[in-house]
Amino acid sequence: MIGQNPIFIPGPTNIPDSLRNAMNVQSTDHRAPDFVEIFAPVLEKLKDIFKTKDATTIIFPSSGTGGWEAAISNTMSVGDKVLIARYGMFSHRWIDLCQRHGLDVEIIECEWGTGAPAHLFAQRLEKDKNNEIKAVLVTHNETATGVRSDIKAVREAIDSANHDALLYVDCVSSLASMDFRMDEWGVDIAISGSQKGLMLNSGLAILAVSEKALARTKRANLPRTFFSFDDMINANKMGGFPYTPPLQLIHGLNAALKIIENEGLENVFRRHFRLAQGVREAVKAWGFRLCAKTPDLYSDSISAIYVPEGFDSDELTNHTYDKYQVSFGVGLGEMAKKAFRIGHLGALTDVMVLSGLATIEMAMADLNYPIELGSGVSAAQQYYRNNSA
Ligand SMILES: *Cc1c(COP(=O)(O)O)cnc(C)c1O
Repeated sequence: MIGQNPIFIPGPTNIPDSLRNAMNVQSTDHRAPDFVEIFAPVLEKLKDIFKTKDATTIIFPSSGTGGWEAAISNTMSVGDKVLIARYGMFSHRWIDLCQRHGLDVEIIECEWGTGAPAHLFAQRLEKDKNNEIKAVLVTHNETATGVRSDIKAVREAIDSANHDALLYVDCVSSLASMDFRMDEWGVDIAISGSQKGLMLNSGLAILAVSEKALARTKRANLPRTFFSFDDMINANKMGGFPYTPPLQLIHGLNAALKIIENEGLENVFRRHFRLAQGVREAVKAWGFRLCAKTPDLYSDSISAIYVPEGFDSDELTNHTYDKYQVSFGVGLGEMAKKAFRIGHLGALTDVMVLSGLATIEMAMADLNYPIELGSGVSAAQQYYRNNSA
């Protein structure tokens, strides 16, 4: 096997050769001045990606899940109440993490395929006259269902209820692929990772934390050591880490931020929209349905697609891998066996997306799906031809 096929899972994503080279580094002294020269600008430049001026950017050796844990353990105490809606596997896992940390988690159950229910948050917060709810937790892009939520509307819900709950947002699968505006949306903690829009290997939790959220660390009594904001910020001020940093990923992140800067962040979003739109045209041509209920919820970084009644999406993704050596995302949680997912984020071009659509079509034809071979590819081709970058 040559191993040159792109992957179409929603993280980790395809790594450009230039980034793989940037991550191929010899061990160097992380207390020497040349590490500081790389690292300090990385923390600064990350602020542009989060669209924040005021927040503090923090990097931990971890993954997105560790980012959730850092956000909670630094700002919460056992028994603190948080409000969160469950509408997919990732919001579900964040709930689980909060519960295991002993928080009082108030859950609004939503149909999978819908997004953050701003109006229900507003109703609940209005009733919470004593400000018992410490934070509202929202998954910006629910990677299990391909749903993007309206974070601005959630901020407006909190403000309209005159509530002082903080807003924590998981932007693991949206940062650097879809517009995210930390300051404008009043986000207090934004949590991401290295292996999705940032096109790197997994291994970094990347956060941006507001002054208000940092102030909460003083009263928060959950234990944290490795994930301590204070320890990390103090070490960062001296130009380093409180422990040995993953040098290769920091070099990679430095290079990734340059790639994004060269393309232009808004152009990165436009490219993701175009790529996603081509996929959506293909889905329409097959006569299939997206898990996302309405167009305003469509994600530009991942599409979750129902297979027709009587078909098993796991069989489809397994077959595609076994016969064609191409990976697609499986259905997660309530979507298990009912839907497959196409990850279309990161370092991706029209040509790569077309190859993915062509491959999944071959697999569907092999398994006697009711589609016409080439129909989805053709629809996407038309879209890409008529909407050049
Ligand atoms: C990928 C992902 C995560 C975190 O996953 P890790 O495997 O821990 O990096 C969290 N939330 C969302 C929405 C994700 O897509």
